[in-house]
Amino acid sequence: DSTFQPAYLAKLNDQQRQAVEHGDGMVAAPLLVIAGAGSGKTNTLAHRVAHLIVKGADPRRILLMTFSRRAAAEMAKRVERIAGEVLGRDAAIITDALTWAGTFHGIGARLLRDYALEIGLDPAFTIHDREDSADLMNLARHELGFSKTESRFPTKGTCLAIYSRAVNAQAPLGEVLGSAFPWCAGWAEQLKTLFAGYVEAKQAQNVLDYDDLLLYWAQMAAEPEIAAHLSARFDHVLVDEYQDTNRLQASILTALKPDGSGLTVVGDDAQSIYSFRAAEVRNILDFPKQFAQAAAIITLERNYRSTETILAAANAVISQASERFTKNLWTERKSSQKPKLVSVRDEAEQANYVCQAILAEREAGTVLKSQAVLFRASHHSGPLEIELTRRNIPFVKFGGLKFLDAAHIKDMLAMLRFAENPRDRVAGFRVLQLLPGIGPSAASQIVETMATSLDEAMGLARYRPPQRAADDWPAFITLYSGLRAGAKWPADLEQVRLWYEPHLERIHEDATTRRADLLQLEQIASGYASRERFLTELTLDPPDATSDQAGPPHRDEDYLILSTIHSAKGQEWKNVFVLNSVDGCIPADLGVGTKEDIEEERRLFYVAMTRARDSLHLVMPQRFFVHGQAARGDRHVYASRTRFIPASILSAFEQTAWASVQARDDPRRQPQVRVDLGARMRGMWK
Ligand code: ATP
Ligand code: MG
Repeated sequence: DSTFQPAYLAKLNDQQRQAVEHGDGMVAAPLLVIAGAGSGKTNTLAHRVAHLIVKGADPRRILLMTFSRRAAAEMAKRVERIAGEVLGRDAAIITDALTWAGTFHGIGARLLRDYALEIGLDPAFTIHDREDSADLMNLARHELGFSKTESRFPTKGTCLAIYSRAVNAQAPLGEVLGSAFPWCAGWAEQLKTLFAGYVEAKQAQNVLDYDDLLLYWAQMAAEPEIAAHLSARFDHVLVDEYQDTNRLQASILTALKPDGSGLTVVGDDAQSIYSFRAAEVRNILDFPKQFAQAAAIITLERNYRSTETILAAANAVISQASERFTKNLWTERKSSQKPKLVSVRDEAEQANYVCQAILAEREAGTVLKSQAVLFRASHHSGPLEIELTRRNIPFVKFGGLKFLDAAHIKDMLAMLRFAENPRDRVAGFRVLQLLPGIGPSAASQIVETMATSLDEAMGLARYRPPQRAADDWPAFITLYSGLRAGAKWPADLEQVRLWYEPHLERIHEDATTRRADLLQLEQIASGYASRERFLTELTLDPPDATSDQAGPPHRDEDYLILSTIHSAKGQEWKNVFVLNSVDGCIPADLGVGTKEDIEEERRLFYVAMTRARDSLHLVMPQRFFVHGQAARGDRHVYASRTRFIPASILSAFEQTAWASVQARDDPRRQPQVRVDLGARMRGMWK
């Protein structure tokens, strides 16, 4: 009835409540929430989903897309808590049915499997991560002879980047080359041939790369009959961080909901930081113009996250941008402490400073988990990681080297993928070459034999291996046929490990630590319902690296967060440290290209600053060693404060210089005095 007011609505401000109640649980006109950092966009979205459910929407018919799988899981938990205020314990059951929450790529993978037969895909397709994709691109490059005949032909990584950009931006190759890869413009014709070959190879092998997950989805959604089915499947479609979607993703949304009914997107144009992946800030700005019916537009202006001093400094930084972001954020969180701008001698000192400050905060009662260290590039945290390890401070690193990048983990997964999809050549090549005596040409022969047999496992059995491989061959056949015949998940993974361990010992010297990782992998695997689900989700959103090197994080312990700024999107911590706040790091040297690149780096810096709730430390090493080593005599270059903090806004910060006791005692360091002893000697006789 109309007088009923759920308690959760009372905690929201007027604009937030308006967004949550828009349509009051019914399918409604499109809604855009465009608002600054920390204004409660994500929180509002969670409330909106909960409200829809409380008002009777079917959670199985809600599609919710976030920037990472972690964000989706957090959102689902929040929805459960909010809906629980009204529904009590039933909320858990209902939110369990909120199964369509994930990333664009993850949702795409699931839908493509559902509709595979309708669109001519084999549902057993496997998914290539970027590295596998680059390997396949390389194979195509070699087969076409480009790497031989064309000197200085773009590398496999560059080829893949160009391909990916063209797909995601939905732009012609010529345009992509001209705007983003001008030095490759001369190879336009060869690149076209190469990409055609790459696409054929993917199809022949029944593999999809990351971009295909969006591309096939968009294409599929553009087919009238499938489109009708898809769009009838979901009543409500909600997207967080909409400023970082690309054209392909926007076209997926419009195909799902051509008139915008039931569509909600939230985002902040000032935080658009993914243009290198063809994200299109115009998506969010043009959203209201897309539909025949008028979209509701709501802006939020109160920031609930940061103190006023942090907000003032962040606003000062973003107000220097060449674009005008009109949002005016304010907060009621008073503070007398300005964000700190800390200059330190070098990166080693920076690591010392951060460790000491973090430990002091922990002494004062702030757990490590409420503190984060952010940086522009993954390798910037190297010296800090060493120092943290030395001091036994546990940490988890987001957006860095992934657990799954380790060779031995890739070997195991390749075996599973090869069993899942015998046509996956990149996986097949990797696995077969683990056997002594089988090199690239034998591996290629085997894959061919399999491809031309009706039954792959049988084709494999018929192959006569080279003499040196003869001993290991039968065990391999047994394992492979077993995996093909019927998956006993997750017991299969143990079989693979038992087969793999002798090879591991032969190939790697540090087999003991690597074997521990394999056990970890089994542990992770036990959380997934099937081999296919495990492979898909791990490829799309791999676990992060921890201070124990490879290995998934120990979720129950207290640990410090290390993250690239890109991966820190949407999150918040009590204390935030930003490393290398100097020109050359942010903006990165690479970013010094065009004016737009610099502007994107500025927004990135703004994203970093706005992650902090109570305290923010921007650390600036004054010099960097050319070879990254502080060895005596190594050359160094001086760095200066990031251009995003010009003198005109310096007053928003507290400037300090810091040196550890070790640094003061360091014999390499000249004393900071100027005395003219010669004059004194002469004076003695005057
Ligand atoms: P970002 O742009 O960084 O993604 P956001 O706009 O999504 O930020 P949220 O993360 O949703 O912001 O919210 C920021 C913080 O403010 C969170 O801690 C959230 O719980 C809190 N918050 C949001 N709305 C309210 C409110 N009405 N009352 C109290 N706290 C709120
Ligand atoms: Mg958010």
